[in-house]
Amino acid sequence: MFNTGSELLKLCEEKNAKIYDMVILKEMEATGLSKEEVLDKMKGTLEVMQASATAGLNKELISNTGITGGNSKRVEDYRKKGNTFAGEIVNSAMAMALSTSEVNASMGRICAAPTAGASGILPSTILSAKDKLNLSDDMLINGLYTAAGVGQIVARIATISGAEGGCQAECGVAAAMGAAAIVEMSGGSPQQALNAAGFALANILGLVCDPIGGLVEFPCNLRNASGVVNGLISADMALAGVQAPIPFDEIVEAMYKVGIALPETLRETALGGLAATPTARELTKHIIEQNK
Ligand code: SF4
Repeated sequence: MFNTGSELLKLCEEKNAKIYDMVILKEMEATGLSKEEVLDKMKGTLEVMQASATAGLNKELISNTGITGGNSKRVEDYRKKGNTFAGEIVNSAMAMALSTSEVNASMGRICAAPTAGASGILPSTILSAKDKLNLSDDMLINGLYTAAGVGQIVARIATISGAEGGCQAECGVAAAMGAAAIVEMSGGSPQQALNAAGFALANILGLVCDPIGGLVEFPCNLRNASGVVNGLISADMALAGVQAPIPFDEIVEAMYKVGIALPETLRETALGGLAATPTARELTKHIIEQNK
């Protein structure tokens, strides 16, 4: 039905539809399920996302290794004091992104969208839009289908794996999915949604994958917090009418080429970047000792 952003936009234009309409239709064709059943399937995903995005707001969730945790609550407590630089929505979004990241690092239940490492970004993006616009769960489910469409295209044209394409392919793609989702959820056009997705990817092109000890903890947790902010500002720029001189598909192709050009040390091997710092090496040694 569609393999690229340009094919998807053409379909949306022909049918005067949103991206989520076309993705839902595609899912119905692929699975043989009714529209109601397809929407119902996503309801379960939304519930998991809502639970993971709020679990750490009021309770310190510490990872199994002990090297990360408690940051969601820290940011939430800080937000409540009402004197932040970036404001209510951004700080609330960061706290929710950190929460899911902490649930993941403590072996809890998350929805990998597109991966476990980047799982905090999409839930916090759509829940931020829900809070701001007072949206129904039905609209959030639509947004998740918009996000799914973007993720499917990136997976087809490029990659959603940090080991293959660096963190740009995980946290960057999650931000792109979230940005497109909230553009459509707030009434933006399919073109604006893909513009937002393209901005989010362009903003972090080249981001490396360098987790301490090869564990999905640090800097993954920070990148989930910055990823949701990337998604929110990309959506704002697209809705403001900022134009993309390069189409979404070409940005995705460029992201892939940059990803495979990254040295192996910067693609989830924990041999480069932050993972190769003296402190990270010490922490890794300590974790290995602990698990002997
Ligand atoms: S640093 Fe690597 S493991 Fe961590 S979120 Fe990014 S891509 Fe995933």
